[in-house]
Amino acid sequence: MSENAIEIRGLNKTYKASGKAKEKVALKSVDLEIPKGSIFGLLGPNGAGKSTIINIMAGLVMKTSGNVSIWGNDIDKNVRQAKSSIGVVPQEINYDPFFTPRGLLDIQAGLYGVPKNEIRTMELLKLVGLEEQAESYTRSLSGGMRRRLMVAKAMVHTPPILVLDEPTAGVDIELRKELWANVKALNKQGVTVLLTTHYLEEAEELCDYIAIINHGEIVACEEKETLLSRIDQKEITFRLDKEFKDIPAGLEGFKPQKQGRRSIKCSYSPHEEAVGQMLSAIQDTGYSIVDISTDESDLEDVFLQLTSKRA
Ligand code: ADP
Ligand code: MG
Repeated sequence: MSENAIEIRGLNKTYKASGKAKEKVALKSVDLEIPKGSIFGLLGPNGAGKSTIINIMAGLVMKTSGNVSIWGNDIDKNVRQAKSSIGVVPQEINYDPFFTPRGLLDIQAGLYGVPKNEIRTMELLKLVGLEEQAESYTRSLSGGMRRRLMVAKAMVHTPPILVLDEPTAGVDIELRKELWANVKALNKQGVTVLLTTHYLEEAEELCDYIAIINHGEIVACEEKETLLSRIDQKEITFRLDKEFKDIPAGLEGFKPQKQGRRSIKCSYSPHEEAVGQMLSAIQDTGYSIVDISTDESDLEDVFLQLTSKRA
């Protein structure tokens, strides 16, 4: 069996024109491999095609062409096995306000035909920190609690893969961190997690692998660390001991910019031996350097580099 939890090959989706809406190409030949045991982030701006991919996997949207295999089950050929291998928390959550969390999970277990002795409602509620709310009405739960309840609901049939579509959109930072902790706990137990997000911070904090999607095309797909190391421009700012008028000769190659009266910002590629050259260029003109600061590169840099090329 494959080492991948999910394999997507040549996936295309064109939404047909309806009413005044024109035909819309949402996915262009998407290939993705999601390794077993990973937390995989599908990152992209609004409208990039993230939910389209998730909804095709969940059987909610019909693909135009291509192949999707979930836990070794082709979604066209082994519909039932493919479905039972994932739990999906959709972007738009709807819930019945009159159910209690316990009632909701029990019913969901029934829908999936989970045998009585394998129903683990309380275990799941505990996992997402809703043990005490087991008997409350769902309508009395906060937004973050509802979202966590939906995670528990998606896990009722114990799928090996959990899929979360924008799990923390509109959720405040504290609740976001709680949800991240839940996701990490599930992953530790062996669950492969696929999540979509348009928050760079979320992908950077949580994911082992990151794919970036833009206008329906995958523009990068790598281990997070590899992706971060691809950033080829760094910025460095030198603060000098006295005011200066002209930028020191010798810095021209580093896109120097004056910052206030005593600082110069330069950019360089970390692969070059640039810092030494910049230091001597400044010192050769008779200034001393009082302070140096650099911007640590983060995912935002990669993201902008990759998505601006094709805007
Ligand atoms: P994301 O989840 O990354 O924000 P979506 O997958 O929801 O992106 O949407 C991708 C593109 O497809 C967008 O341009 C969106 O407007 C369009 N789209 C999504 N759903 C439909 C639909 N049911 N009918 C027509 N166009 C759609
Ligand atoms: Mg979406």
